[in-house]
Amino acid sequence: MKVHEYQGKAVLERYGVRTQRGIVVETPQQAGEAYAQLGGDLAVIKAQIHAGGRGKGGGVKLVKNRQEAEEVADAMLGMMLKTHQTGPEGQLVRKLFVCEGLDLASEMYVGIALDRHLGVPVLMACADGGVEIETIAEQDPDALLRLPINPMTGLQPHQARRAAFFLGLDAGLVKKAVPFLIGLSKAYLELDCEIAEINPLVVTEQGEVVALDAKMSFDSNAMYRHQDLAEMRDENEEDLKEVEASRFGLNYISLDGSIGCMVNGAGLAMATMDTINLHGCTPANFLDVGGGATEEAITEAFRIILSDEKVKGILVNIFGGIMKCDIIARGVIGAAKTVDISIPLVVRLEGTNVDEGRKLLAESGLDITSAASLDEGAKLICQAVKAGA
Ligand code: GDP
Ligand code: MN
Repeated sequence: MKVHEYQGKAVLERYGVRTQRGIVVETPQQAGEAYAQLGGDLAVIKAQIHAGGRGKGGGVKLVKNRQEAEEVADAMLGMMLKTHQTGPEGQLVRKLFVCEGLDLASEMYVGIALDRHLGVPVLMACADGGVEIETIAEQDPDALLRLPINPMTGLQPHQARRAAFFLGLDAGLVKKAVPFLIGLSKAYLELDCEIAEINPLVVTEQGEVVALDAKMSFDSNAMYRHQDLAEMRDENEEDLKEVEASRFGLNYISLDGSIGCMVNGAGLAMATMDTINLHGCTPANFLDVGGGATEEAITEAFRIILSDEKVKGILVNIFGGIMKCDIIARGVIGAAKTVDISIPLVVRLEGTNVDEGRKLLAESGLDITSAASLDEGAKLICQAVKAGA
């Protein structure tokens, strides 16, 4: 679960990580008031969206007086901000973070992410700030320091000192960077983070070590033990279809292909997606309806798939174990009553209550092609979609 920069910074402050101060606003007038309240000459207006690269896209602007703050805020609020992480249509800007302007002496990178290979979080540090860390890792790996963190003990002071020296900080700044990095590590471990990235970490002309940006993302499965973080979720920033699906307890992830999939069990869903690829098409989504889904949830799942304009055909592949085939059939029929199914639909049902499920579908009057196996189902839907294209 991602959060906005202003939320990430508030979380980090609790761990003694010094961040660039700011005030969240939603109108140009509030931006002007925030400018005045911050009290300095220089301020920065920063668009709050769940994507990086805002600076290059016009979502981070320096302002020098109250009027300029209001004008910049007016232009930024409501804009579709495009960055390399948003997709071509961009992301609507609804909130701004008006921050104290800092005089920067240098910009660096630090971040913590899970290294799935080592099975522990790793602190990454790079003396170049504002860069794409993936690019550095690929093109100039020696410029990137990687320190594995023991999850039981956290980042150790000697590791923090090593990272600070690697960043080229002098002895005085190292003293400030060490608690900063240890705080970052503590936040990462205690809050079940997936990513905690400070890009850039800056040294100001006044000799302070400050997080100028903060990208925090948390493990959604751990949100039950962090109620305060769970409340930071901003559904406006998420895929609408994924948000709806999560309300019904469905595991749904949007993808780029043309074949909508309705499957029970994550393993079967993966196999179904592979088989669709094998027959020359690509899936429009991953959907595991699980074992305990109700008829209403299945109806909703079907509606979500149909609401996706990319979907040119649907493959339902159910191996009824705990999930009963008749529930799936009823859900499909229920959805067909409220939305018109005008695209090819292939259904493969097997397992618990299969006869009843097949009978319901056969008597429904819906135009359904049934398949006897996963392979046949994938083949049939791919053929139908290719024929229609
Ligand atoms: P991102 O582009 O989405 O990663 O947004 P950042 O928060 O990292 O800001 C982008 C860039 O704006 C930073 O790398 C800085 O160079 C610049 N910037 C942000 N705040 C300040 C500031 O207070 N003073 C100065 N001089 N530059 C700033
Ligand atoms: Mn940044």
